[in-house]
Amino acid sequence: MGSAALADAIKSIRDWSLNEGRAALTSPSSIAELFGSLVFNDRVQEARLPKTAYKVLRATITKGEALDQTTADAVAGALKDWAVEHGATHYTHWFQPLTGITAEKHDSFLWPTPEGKALVEFSGKELIKGEPDASSFPSGGMRSTFEARGYTAWDPTSPPFLHVDGNSVTLVIPTAFVSWTGEALDKKTPLLRSMEALSRQAVRVLKLFGSTSERVTTTCGPEQEYFLIDRNFYFARPDLINAGRTLFGAKPPKGQEMEDQYFGSIPERVLACMADTETELYKIGVPVKTRHNEVAPSQYEIAPVFENANVAADHQLMTMEMLKRIAPKYGLECLLHEKPFAGVNGSGKHNNWSMSDEFGNNLLSPGATPHDNMQFLVFCAAVLRAVDTWQGLLRASIASAGNDHRLGANEAPPAILSIFLGDQLSDIFEQLEKGGAKSTKQGGLLDVGVSSLPKLPRDAGDRNRTSPFAFTGNKFEFRAVSSGQNIGWPNMVLNVAAAEALQSIADELEAAVAKGEELNKAVAKLLTKIAKQHKRIVFNGNGYSKEWEKEAAKRGLLNLKNTVDALPEIIKPAVVKVMEKHKVLNGRELHARYEIYLEAYNKTINVEGQLMVLIANRYILPAALEYQKQIGQSVTAVRSAGATSVQGKKLLAKYTKLVDRLKVQADALDVLLAHSGTAADKHAKYMRDKVVPAMNKLREVGDEIEVLTPHGLWPLPTYREMLFVK
Ligand code: ADP
Ligand code: MG
Repeated sequence: MGSAALADAIKSIRDWSLNEGRAALTSPSSIAELFGSLVFNDRVQEARLPKTAYKVLRATITKGEALDQTTADAVAGALKDWAVEHGATHYTHWFQPLTGITAEKHDSFLWPTPEGKALVEFSGKELIKGEPDASSFPSGGMRSTFEARGYTAWDPTSPPFLHVDGNSVTLVIPTAFVSWTGEALDKKTPLLRSMEALSRQAVRVLKLFGSTSERVTTTCGPEQEYFLIDRNFYFARPDLINAGRTLFGAKPPKGQEMEDQYFGSIPERVLACMADTETELYKIGVPVKTRHNEVAPSQYEIAPVFENANVAADHQLMTMEMLKRIAPKYGLECLLHEKPFAGVNGSGKHNNWSMSDEFGNNLLSPGATPHDNMQFLVFCAAVLRAVDTWQGLLRASIASAGNDHRLGANEAPPAILSIFLGDQLSDIFEQLEKGGAKSTKQGGLLDVGVSSLPKLPRDAGDRNRTSPFAFTGNKFEFRAVSSGQNIGWPNMVLNVAAAEALQSIADELEAAVAKGEELNKAVAKLLTKIAKQHKRIVFNGNGYSKEWEKEAAKRGLLNLKNTVDALPEIIKPAVVKVMEKHKVLNGRELHARYEIYLEAYNKTINVEGQLMVLIANRYILPAALEYQKQIGQSVTAVRSAGATSVQGKKLLAKYTKLVDRLKVQADALDVLLAHSGTAADKHAKYMRDKVVPAMNKLREVGDEIEVLTPHGLWPLPTYREMLFVK
């Protein structure tokens, strides 16, 4: 069976290379033209909208001003004309429900008339508000039945685009998804609210430094890791199809230990697939920039140029969807799961994050003058305070059954949140902590009394991949984010945490200045205080080491090892308070999220457990019994020929024991999975403490059996095949 999938895979690779597969590679000369060609972007808006409508829309996009009905109608009309000219027949309000990735429902532009004709129509009302029949999307109890239908609301700050697939063209309108009572049922709404919150506080701080900025946006550039494997293998693995990861599979003789994969040359079929994916992404305006091999075999990365965090989050979702959609055209399947294969690295998503004013100044970029650097240090200090104070919530924002396989597993950052600052910045904060504020000298010294910031290299020398949250020259990189998740949730948490820290800083500095204190002195005092209060969060060493775990415990840092431990952070009173204060999520919205994520955890483990029982009983056991019989027959045949097969008998005994154990463990897991009836939080603990260990045990036997079973009898594609035949 395994060999059948292998033969198919080999054929598909050969067919591809004989075919015009290579024709898909785009010539670089055309990409500038392609970029954004399917987007209703600023350029198109300006060309197609009446002047006043264009102005109002711009003000909405750049300043968050309200948009009136007349403008909405004008935008809808222009949008429809543009879409229809490009062959669109339908439009969809595209949204981000609390589970899964994205959702959409398509409606036609056609309106039949009584005379039997049809009009192509699209009103401002239809643009602004949609009503997906969304009663089956999880709401965590936020929608009682009488208000079962949430609605989608147009997000004018993320441009509409065309989804072209085969012969269908659909206008996609990014939207927020809220209940009739105005509560957020999605991941976009809180992200937008959190960006507002951060802007309010950051502007206050900037003002103290003499800036005229009225709006600060968070910027984000997410690096996506993923696997590509031949589709024939994918279809032969029920676990990959239904759980996104392999639940059985012995380690191959060669894994990633040769380190010959990272940045290595990309196989031709894979490269063609990547190029095609990128071309399609260019068309819909996603500025993808970088591609390379990752550490594990058959693992790759794609990264864009950073953008406004809201648009970046939408573009990130579009990237994930595109990777999934294009891969099959090349006979490949894209795996976005955090840990598709045991024993080799899993996939994450490095979330590069910063803040920028409307003049394009990156607030986390060390400046050229002492004055700029003082401001830079204040924003850095805010991040220190934010991450230290809200480490539990940040940890919860990346928690999932899938990410549990990575965090702390010696290949991904630990589950403990800490910040890597690099030598230079750490040194500065150490000086500050010691009260470096006293020596306000000119020349080589900063106003706040710290030896002047040498120009920090944009690419800080030490990449320290073991840190979950690293300063990388002019931005922070939240590395513990998982490959499969919507980045809206961790970015929202980061923004709120930073907003809260910036608020405390603005409060303190404003009060000092009002009392007539010099800004320099007030800043110096504040930085010293923050350095003292929050230095425990700074760690530049090896995050994988056992010593760090001990040291972190001594420092009082949280070590929330798994999803079940992490999720309750979401509903801690302090979290509810800070989220409500910044008007990002209320208690009900937070509780709903807690319940939904808990439920998702329970469902994931349940599906995986059920799949393991199925695979053990219906794939592995029949194959193993067949081989057991063959060994038995061989031993008998040898005996009737007058000899004794010593090794045969030994093998038979060993193999029989394993087969028995497989059956026993599969049955035990099956019994454990039948348990139900407790509250979701209790059930989650049960899943973690009883079911997951039983799954691990079952897998161990299954994998032991695999290495003893003839290749021709083995019913599943092996790791060796899936990871290396490409
Ligand atoms: P590396 O992390 O490998 O050093 P880069 O510095 O090029 O690579 O950045 C990686 C990602 O960080 C890219 O997606 C990039 O666009 C993004 N990035 C760079 N600057 C910022 C910023 N100011 N805000 C958010 N993301 C940024
Ligand atoms: Mg990086």
